[in-house]
Amino acid sequence: MGELEARVREAFAQQGALSRAADQFRERSGQTEMALAVARVIDEGGQLVVEAGTGVGKTFSYLVPALLSGERVLLSTATKTLQDQLFGRDLPRLVEALGLPVRTALLKGRASYLCLHRLDLARHDAGPERASARTLAKIEQWSKATRTGDLAELPGLDERSPLIPLVTSTRDNCLGAQCPQFRPCHVNAARREALGADVVVINH
Ligand code: SF4
Repeated sequence: MGELEARVREAFAQQGALSRAADQFRERSGQTEMALAVARVIDEGGQLVVEAGTGVGKTFSYLVPALLSGERVLLSTATKTLQDQLFGRDLPRLVEALGLPVRTALLKGRASYLCLHRLDLARHDAGPERASARTLAKIEQWSKATRTGDLAELPGLDERSPLIPLVTSTRDNCLGAQCPQFRPCHVNAARREALGADVVVINH
């Protein structure tokens, strides 16, 4: 058994590190088995496809070996909700329980971030409808406090709001280095953070 596999087995043992991360953690053979398979493929290379039922604890099974490996890791989830859950809940709990000095970052597509330049423009283009004016006022207020500019953090924002395309950027309308908001730009900041991180959570 390789060193990574041994550390993974230890973490999943009844009194191991995971019992500190999850309330009522109990050793489950399917979970440990999947984690050891992930550890083996990290050690030896190759691909691994795993199918496991609900309740097996798949998230910890891939996160623990990935974190213990010390490698740079890209975790890609199927939905943005899972992405937020992984980054905001499971990952920090595990990093703390395993006591690892791991830097993590969340990276979404540019359409998920407030574009500061287009917010300036939207002040003039939002139109006369009351609902748009109210939503814009809410976004403006939040924009002064947010560190990430991730619109998912704004409570009650309807993701179908017609205002969203006005305050987010596309590859075509982003001004890049010519942008007056280039330095504080949230898209750039998220990408910089991802470049410096050990574990990056994206979605596909
Ligand atoms: S650099 Fe692009 S995304 Fe960033 S604020 Fe400017 S226009 Fe928006």
